Amino acid sequence: MQTSIEKLMDRLSQAESAVQADGALITSDRNRFYFTGFPSSAGALLVFRDTAYFMTDFRYAEAAGKSIQGCQVICYSSLKETLAQLLKKHGAKRILLESEKMYLQESRTLTGILASAGAEAVLDDTLDTIIIDLRTIKTPEEIQKIRESQKITDDAFSYILGRIAPGRTEREIALEIEFFMRRQGAEGVAFDLIVVSGANGSMCHGVPSSKVIEKGDFITMDTGALLHGYHSDMTRTVAVGEVSEEQRHVYELVLKAQEAALKTAGPGVPCGDVDKAARDLIEAEYKGAFEHSTGHGVGVEIHEWPRFQKGNIQKAEPGMVVTVEPGIYLPGKFGVRIEDMIAITESGIENLTHSPKELIIL
Ligand code: ZN
Ligand code: ZN
Repeated sequence: MQTSIEKLMDRLSQAESAVQADGALITSDRNRFYFTGFPSSAGALLVFRDTAYFMTDFRYAEAAGKSIQGCQVICYSSLKETLAQLLKKHGAKRILLESEKMYLQESRTLTGILASAGAEAVLDDTLDTIIIDLRTIKTPEEIQKIRESQKITDDAFSYILGRIAPGRTEREIALEIEFFMRRQGAEGVAFDLIVVSGANGSMCHGVPSSKVIEKGDFITMDTGALLHGYHSDMTRTVAVGEVSEEQRHVYELVLKAQEAALKTAGPGVPCGDVDKAARDLIEAEYKGAFEHSTGHGVGVEIHEWPRFQKGNIQKAEPGMVVTVEPGIYLPGKFGVRIEDMIAITESGIENLTHSPKELIIL
């Protein structure tokens, strides 16, 4: 099977005719990691049509040489000089750069380095588009890493259920989930964990506070682990002590919407249809209470492509890993969100999330 660097080389060959670029320079931490599987805070990956170089400094060179396959590892004392030598060696005149998340200063520096070697920087979205396409379709190995990351998230949910009680704060619960994940081998949390309770639950991206959990509260926990450089993402809402009729009704409606979206998702289905399946059910009763999109891709970043979003005509394809996370948020009252992470397969979907979804009253 082709490595991600080989896939990029192929795409460069196709893109070269359109943009007439000789190669690509990948400098962002995330994309360097995606292509090499090697985490580092410094370095650059230079990819030509038929060869690739990973340049880094003395801190990483030895480990990079042992772990990176498919490209030559070069230890530099000056990136500028090493890059200039390689560009001259390959007679490169036009080099694609990432532009999506690059600081202006960094782009000026790189443009200057390329210019000093007689090459021109191409800063349009050509390279970003290629990388997004590649990253959107996960390999079986990548999906396995996400599965393992999600296992820690599922285990953390079972663990925390036994530790939620009136009198404890949102912040304590969030911290315990994080400790648990780290103890299970996670490299970290996938994002700042969200634990919101009672009226705070209507803030879908609320920050855990010193609010004390009370009887009758819904608690929404949006959590995820980072393992092997890959993220996981899951949300569950549970109740403490008792629920009102309205709470139960809203919970069941979110669950129904989430299940409708899961049923709709599959290869060839427009991403917007998955969103619509959940949104129509919620909006029929709670218009304006579900303003975010139904799902996002997950991988080496927590928010990737594609999006299960209103009107998105992009079709789901095997290898995509996407969340399905409708919610209802009632300001001043409470909120409910249920989020699973799925992989699109040749025949349908694989739900990577295994935590229960029926209403849990602790
Ligand atoms: Zn989430
Ligand atoms: Zn999410």
